[in-house]
Formats: sequence, structure tokens, C-alpha cells
Amino acid sequence: MSIKFSKNNFLFFALFAGGIVLPTAILSFLSFRNIQNEIFLAQKTFDENRASFQKEVEDAVHKEQEKIYQETKAASLFLYEQPRSLLEFGNAAAFKEVSGIEAIFLYNDNKLVYPDISSRHFYKAADFSNAKPSPVEMQLFLEEQSLKSDKAAEQVYLTRSFRMLHSPFESTSDQVQNILGMTRLAYKKGNYPEALRLLRILEQHPHLQGYLHADITRSVNLLHFEILVKQKKHQEAEDYTLSVLTQFLQSDHIENISSARFFFEEAFTQILSFEDLSQEKREAFWNLRSNFNHQLGYMDILAKYRDMFSELLENELTSKEGILYSTDGPVTLFKMSYPQLSGNQIVIAKIDNDAYRNRIMDKVKSVAQSWKNIPFSIVDDNNSVLLGAIPDSAAVLSQTRISDAFDWDFSLYEKDVKEIRKESRQRMFLMYGLLSFSLITVILGSFLMLRFITQEHKLLAMKANFLSSVSHELKTPLTSIKMFAEMMARGRVQKTEKVQEYSGLIGKEASRLENLIGAILNYTRMEHGTGAFKWERLDFSICAQKVFDAIEDIGVEKGLEFHTKFEPNVYVMGDYTALYSLTQNLIENAIKYTNAPGEIAVNVYSEDNHVVFSVADTGVGIPISEQKNIFNDFYRVGDEMTRSTKGSGLGLAIVKRVAETHKATISLSSKPGKGSTFTIKFKKVD
Ligand code: ADP
Repeated sequence: MSIKFSKNNFLFFALFAGGIVLPTAILSFLSFRNIQNEIFLAQKTFDENRASFQKEVEDAVHKEQEKIYQETKAASLFLYEQPRSLLEFGNAAAFKEVSGIEAIFLYNDNKLVYPDISSRHFYKAADFSNAKPSPVEMQLFLEEQSLKSDKAAEQVYLTRSFRMLHSPFESTSDQVQNILGMTRLAYKKGNYPEALRLLRILEQHPHLQGYLHADITRSVNLLHFEILVKQKKHQEAEDYTLSVLTQFLQSDHIENISSARFFFEEAFTQILSFEDLSQEKREAFWNLRSNFNHQLGYMDILAKYRDMFSELLENELTSKEGILYSTDGPVTLFKMSYPQLSGNQIVIAKIDNDAYRNRIMDKVKSVAQSWKNIPFSIVDDNNSVLLGAIPDSAAVLSQTRISDAFDWDFSLYEKDVKEIRKESRQRMFLMYGLLSFSLITVILGSFLMLRFITQEHKLLAMKANFLSSVSHELKTPLTSIKMFAEMMARGRVQKTEKVQEYSGLIGKEASRLENLIGAILNYTRMEHGTGAFKWERLDFSICAQKVFDAIEDIGVEKGLEFHTKFEPNVYVMGDYTALYSLTQNLIENAIKYTNAPGEIAVNVYSEDNHVVFSVADTGVGIPISEQKNIFNDFYRVGDEMTRSTKGSGLGLAIVKRVAETHKATISLSSKPGKGSTFTIKFKKVD
């Protein structure tokens, strides 16, 4: 059958070609051309990427630096707002740390505001860790060892104290050592009141205290504190610690920071572990400890780098951001003044090198992660690589210093041409792949669409064919009926035999009409689905027998011989009318397409779980190429025999639909000139 293009079809094809095929072809062409330029493009992209990467890294470092300044400023303001004197116990809030900064110093009018204690003049912390015991201590120690018992020791100390009180010539140092020895003894024996009494002698007599080494003072303090704790006098222990702190802060000379730190750390830790400490006090002691520790630590730094501090203080020059750096070996300080802070306040901060570097490098690392394949390195002034890598043989494209505080060099390198080639080749393959894929999809889609359109056309043509053949089919019997009826009405037929013959012919033609209309109705019924079906358990043999009995005569008249077998009690679930027309169509076709002398076998029997219905004939047969098509709606084999046989092309379409709705299988074996066998297998029910 040839397909004629209507106006609509033409429009459709024009749209299809103009809207899909043409743009795809143009796009493909352009893409292929672009792929050719891939290497050039890759180099260009790399240059652009490198510039963006450089800017992003510099921005990230700058931003993080700025953040550190801001945090330092916030921390220093916090320090200023805090009670600057530690003695305002209970008012101190937790200390504010800045990651990357080790210490913060706050000045007002060039005077130190924080750490507060360092505003008094102080001496450089003496290192007592290697101190040897004084000769007197040594002597006492040896004496203690040589004495046989505590009793004997007590005797010695008593004699010595007595001498001490009565002899003004006894050296003060000896007196102190004596009292200390006696205190230790009393403490060991658990005589706490006596130990406290002796300690008070030491603590309350300034002339004695003046001779105490700073570290001996702290051990006296610690002993005192511990006795109070041993006696469970927690409140007194707390008060005592605060009074020692007051003394320490108010004394003119602050000496030996490390031994003071040791005492206070010990005392604060113990106080914080008191179970009866109120929540409020716990917080206050906690803050006090942290604040005090920071102050002492900062004082150490101040003492150590005093020259750098005074130089920074004197130097009026600052960068436009108000920042001035000073570096001496591993130590880096910076000064922040107006506009970072207001008034005459300035802040000097010491950078914690490791933390600062990590903080900045973390930011750079996260930027670098989104810019893979760009060779770069960040190197510090010791030539150690902080981030990235120095390539073996690539030219340096740019080098910048990225940190204000340190000499960090940020270098970008030329990319290996081989690598660019490799990357662009990979991209090329990907693009080729994508392009081919889309081309194949478009071609395949077009092909499928064409096929679909062709099929639609065929169907339309078949329907038209069907309508004309149906109307022809309907017309032929109608014409005969009309003719015979008219003849009889005009009274032309007088003989009774003729009247009988004509009315017989009218009846036959009428039943042909009925059959044809029945087939059309059946077909329409199938097209509307199974909704109209009435499902029931029925004996297939009874149904097939009925059909056979009704149409057997037509075959016999044609001179055909029948063989049948209807096995009883073969039940299936189905719709009676549908199964009736399936059976009828198959037997009718066998009769229609078999010429005399011929044979037709109709069999119904059960096999395993199935009910088998088969119709075999010795008729014209169906060529293999047609076997697929004959079940299509309105399809008729286009040979001579078919054309001369009356039919609608609907019979097998009905058979197929009924079988499908009954979940039955159809098989066909046929040879042209030899005959055909149609076999339908239903599921058997009990
Ligand atoms: P039709 O009304 O033309 O018989 P069918 O759908 O019943 O329509 O059959 C489709 C076509 O299949 C027929 O035109 C015929 O060529 C072929 N066909 C069907 N049954 C047989 C058969 N038993 N032997 C040979 N050809 C057959």
C-alpha cells in the first residue's frame, strides 16, 4: 500500500525537519568545530582559572587576617570592659581566646591596662627550677636524717626555738628554717592547730617574711592552705587563697611568677573540686583562675620581649589599616591603633605562629579544593612548603606575598602542556560521546516516529477499506433481499415452489447480514474491553459443539469432510459470547479457506492443566510472511482466494482479543497449499 502525503503530513514533516533535524545537525557541526579548538580553549580556560584562583586565595588570606584583627579587637575591648583588677572577685567573666593569637596587651595613653598586675614594676621572673637548697636547708636536712626519731627532732627544734626567742644574734634565716622544721613536724603528726600557729608566726612577722625566698613563701602558703583543707575548713581555705592573692597583687615587687603560679593553680584547682562550693562561686573561681593565669603568662611574655614592646609603642608609623608588625626571629607582634580602636588605646598582640598559620592555611586549602589542577605553592621564609607543591620543571608565572605578618610566598606555575593536552583529549572524548549519543537518539527517534506514522496510515487505510468492504458486504445481501421481495410483491412469482425458493433465499441472505452485523458488533464489543464480559465457569466442549452444529452444514454443502472430538467436562473461566465468536471465527475460516475436496478437524481436549481447542484444515494455507499480520484488525491476505472470499478482516482480530482477555495462548502452523492448524490453549479450571 502506498502512503499519500496530505497537506497535514507535509506540514508535520516540515516542522520535524526544521525543528529537530536541522538544529541538531547545525549544533553538531558547531560542536565538532569547537572540539577541534579544545586545546586552545583549555589553555585559555586555564589562564582564566589561574587568575580567578589567585584572586580567591589572596582574598581568602586577606579576609581571614581581617577576621583575626577584628577578633583581637573584640577580645581587647572585652578585656577593657572586664574589671581590670582581679580583686573584684566574682565580676570577672570567662577569658576570651582568639585562635592564632597567643597574648593580647591593652594600652591606654601608652600605659598598660591589661594585664593589670604588670602595671606595678616587676622583676624578671627568676628561674628556680634548678635552684639548689641553701646551705642551711642542707644542714637541717642532714640533721633530720641523723635523728633517730621524731621525738628527738622535736627536742632539737624546741631547744633551737628557745634559743631563737632569747638570742637576738641568731640569724633570721636560721630562725625561719627552724620554725619551718617545727611546722613540718607538727603537720606530719597531724597537730594542725600547732602547725597553723607556727605558720602564722612566719606569715605575720614581716621581718621574718622579708627573708623568705619567694618560693619558700609559696610553700608556706600551700602548707597553710592544705592544713585548712585537711580540717575541712573550706570557707577559710577560700578566704585564705583570696587574701594571699590580694597580698601578691598589692606587693610592690612581684617575684618568681612560676612559684606563684604553682601555688595559685594548686589552690584554685582544689577549691574548684570542693563539693560544697556554690555554683556562683565556682564560676567566679573558674574565671579568676583563667584570668589570673593569662595575666601571669602575659607578664612572662612582656618581660621576655620588653624591647620589642617599647619599640612598637614608640613607633608612630602604622600601615593604612592601622597595623604595625614587628618580627624578631620566631616572635611576631603586631600593634593595632586607630582606626581599629578608638581614642588613645592601642593593642599589642603576640601571634601564635602555628595556630595562625593553620588558621590561614585552612582557608586557602578549602579554596584550592575547588580549583584542582592548578599548580601552586605557598612557601614560608624557611623555604618549607606550607601548601601545594613546587613542580620539578615548570616556569613560575607569578609570585606574591600573601601574609602581612609573615614572609609567605604564593607562587603559580605554568601548566604542563602535556597535561593540558591530556585533559582536553579527555574532554574531547566526552563531547564526541555526547554528540554521537544525541545524534543516534535523534535518528532513532525519527525512525520510530516515521514507523509510527506509517502504521497509523496503514490503519487508517485499513479502516477505510473495511468500511467500503463492509458496506459492500451489507449491500449485496440487501440487494438480493430487495429484489426477491419486490418480485414477490409484484405477483410475478406464481408457483408455490418458486415462492418457497425465493423466501428461502431471502432468509439465507438475511442470516448472512445478521452474521456480518454480529461480527462487527463483536469486534466493537472487544474494543471496549472486558468490562462488558460476564465471567463464568463453562464447559468449552459444549460451546464448541454448539458452534460446530450451527455451521457444519455450510462445510458439508461445500463438499468438505469433518472430523471432530469434543472431550466432555473440560472447564474454563470465560465469557460465553466471546468464546462462541472465537470458536465460530476459527471454524468458519477453515471452511472459507478450504476448497473441496478437503478435510477439517475440530478438536477439544484437556492436556496437563490446559484445555486445548484446535481447528485444522487442508485448505490454502498462509504464507509465513503473512502469519504475523493476519491477527491485525481488518487485515486480509491480499491473494486471489481471499479477495474472492467474503470477509471483514475482523475474525482473527476478534480471536486474538478473546484469547488475550482469557489469558490463552494462540499458535499457528500453516503451509501454503497444504493447510493450516490454529491451536488455542486455555487454562483449565476444576
Ligand atoms: P477474513 O474476514 O478475511 O476471513 P480473518 O481475520 O478471519 O478475516 O482472517 C484474516 C486473513 O487470514 C484472511 O483474509 C485469510 O487470508 C487468512 N486466513 C484466516 N484463516 C485462514 C485459514 N484457515 N486458511 C487460510 N487462510 C486463512
